Amino acid sequence: MSKPVALLAYQDADLEKQQIETGLRTTANRVKLNKLAKYVKQQQATLTKLTEDMESHSAAMNRLNAQYEAVLDRLDLESSEFETLKGDEECTSEEMTEFRHDIEKLQREANNLEKEIKQLFRSLEETVSEYQKTRQQGAKAKKEYDQVKILCQKEKDDAAIDMLAADKKLEELERHVSPSLMNRYKRARLHNSVPVVEVRDGKCSGCNMSLPSLAIRRLIGENMILECENCGRLLYADND
Ligand SMILES: [Zn+2]
Repeated sequence: MSKPVALLAYQDADLEKQQIETGLRTTANRVKLNKLAKYVKQQQATLTKLTEDMESHSAAMNRLNAQYEAVLDRLDLESSEFETLKGDEECTSEEMTEFRHDIEKLQREANNLEKEIKQLFRSLEETVSEYQKTRQQGAKAKKEYDQVKILCQKEKDDAAIDMLAADKKLEELERHVSPSLMNRYKRARLHNSVPVVEVRDGKCSGCNMSLPSLAIRRLIGENMILECENCGRLLYADND
């Protein structure tokens, strides 16, 4: 017999265990959980961004308000001076006109600032409402995440018995494989989920690379197990 029966039996049991593990990772609940985790993370990033926006909006608002107050103060001052000058007989009409222009300029400035403040306020309100909406959505998703997580844990607990049985089976089958071959299997298993494959038509059936004729002779004639130089899988020839 050249087929490594014990090793292949071990591999079959190993594949069964892999299937249980893969099954657990791909249940509807697990897929949903991953999706929700991603969504919650996105919402958190959005919240951080919106918080920064709100802070910069507030800072801009404070600056504008201070500017506006300053302009109003100047306007007050100029207006009262203007009133005083109106009663002053020595004041020329040119001076009066200049004063009037100054006051008009300040008024335009105040109007513009008022407009800017209103605009900024609307924008701030929008940001706040977006923040609240995002927070609500995030909280809802987090709640759902927690619920689905419990379901996933239950699935895992249920599968634990199967996993234990699979481990026991592997332990039993390992006794029939020599330690050195087992080491080679485990090494190949690091990079291949199915580490032992048959040689078919002179090729590795794992990666399809053609094998040198010497290797084929040793596989068939000497019943050896060789490693594929290309993919690292263990190769055997089925002489039957
Ligand atoms: Zn190969």
